[in-house]
Amino acid sequence: MSEFLFGVYGEKFSSRALGGGTQKLTRKEVKTLQLNIGRRCNLACHHCHVESGPKKTEAMSSSDINRVLEILLRNPKIDTLDITGGAPEMHPDFRVLVSGAKRLGVRVIDRCNLTILYERGQEDTAEFLAQEGVEVIASLPCYSLNNVEKQRGKGVFGKSIDALRLLNDLGYGKKSSSLVLNLVHNPIGAELPPATEELERTYREQLETLFEVQFNKLLTITNMPIKRFAHELEREGRFEGYMSLLVNHFNPSTLKSLMCRDLISVGFDGRLWDCDFNQMLELPFAGETKSLEETIWNDSDWSRFEGQPIGTDGHCFGCTAGAGSSCGGALT
Ligand code: SF4
Ligand code: SF4
Repeated sequence: MSEFLFGVYGEKFSSRALGGGTQKLTRKEVKTLQLNIGRRCNLACHHCHVESGPKKTEAMSSSDINRVLEILLRNPKIDTLDITGGAPEMHPDFRVLVSGAKRLGVRVIDRCNLTILYERGQEDTAEFLAQEGVEVIASLPCYSLNNVEKQRGKGVFGKSIDALRLLNDLGYGKKSSSLVLNLVHNPIGAELPPATEELERTYREQLETLFEVQFNKLLTITNMPIKRFAHELEREGRFEGYMSLLVNHFNPSTLKSLMCRDLISVGFDGRLWDCDFNQMLELPFAGETKSLEETIWNDSDWSRFEGQPIGTDGHCFGCTAGAGSSCGGALT
């Protein structure tokens, strides 16, 4: 499969999006530090591009976590810390990181799979998130039990709804509160997400009517043709069909707002990447030279990354198809 990604589709992306390689996708001012704090997760979803699961042990060290806080301190233009995993809450230093970043006045996002709030040892995590004013972005690929459990496993839907109610009780997702609860939809199969506005209306109606659950916004995300999802497509002989769908729906107007343009992704080992997907594919940070591997321990002035080229390949069609896709939802 990598032959497709790194060969044909990578060249196609270069010719469609980057003028045959004559133009470069470059980074603007860095506004978001997205941290993949570790790979451990209480779930093992079919589409997981991180290939997380309960047996994974990779996790950021305490000294690296402190260094991330130092980077935030020294780069006040980075106004958002987006924490992802795995299930970020399972990391032993999750709270140190969150509280430290909040003290610096940084907006903190927790990418929460909801079910984690009911795991042993996480009994007061929801209260902690509310006290710190952490923005919760929660995966809920559908409002129906069957579709959610097909993608995320048995028993996940009920726990997710319970967790959403718990968050609502704390004020999350309520009009009267500043606590933000956004939900994430990604398609169950090999298709593009539907239009966000219409789907958000349906989610709101269904969740409110059936479960009395409220939320702020729905974010729609395209399934990336990498890792677990790519292997599944390959096994079923649908990989090329899915790639063709993405290529045929390439939308040039997404290029100006791609998330990689103002974000840097940090791995659990402290290495820097152009985005979380490039991190999982180990596509080198495009500003790296042979003699320099960028990590959080190099020069802490991150304004030096402005104007730097971004590494792209065939998977970038996942961010640029249709209405576009990013960790913050559709782009257009
Ligand atoms: S909850 Fe998220 S990190 Fe965990 S396995 Fe599922 S997709 Fe991966
Ligand atoms: S996968 Fe998306 S975010 Fe990452 S470099 Fe490609 S276009 Fe940018």
